Amino acid sequence: MLSKKARKARKAKKELDAKGKLDRKMTKVCRFCEHKELRIDYKDERTLKRYMNERGKIIPRRMSGACARHQRAITSAIKRARHLAILPYAAEAFR
Ligand SMILES: [Zn+2]
Repeated sequence: MLSKKARKARKAKKELDAKGKLDRKMTKVCRFCEHKELRIDYKDERTLKRYMNERGKIIPRRMSGACARHQRAITSAIKRARHLAILPYAAEAFR
């Protein structure tokens, strides 16, 4: 017999599953791990821009979905690109 608490937790999980939220989170895979042919290049402005917000800040791992290894590579690539003025350090605020 399940305890009241366990039943409640199971019900909550089921509800999450129904909304597809749980599934979405579980299937989140790093793009660079999934496609081995993709390379992180500091000269590739278009790819790196996807990992920055509109203010020019680097998007955190929990949002970008990249794994630790690739997030580190993205971060250094962005910083390298900034130094070469390929990417901005800070974009102009929208007013
Ligand atoms: Zn990865």
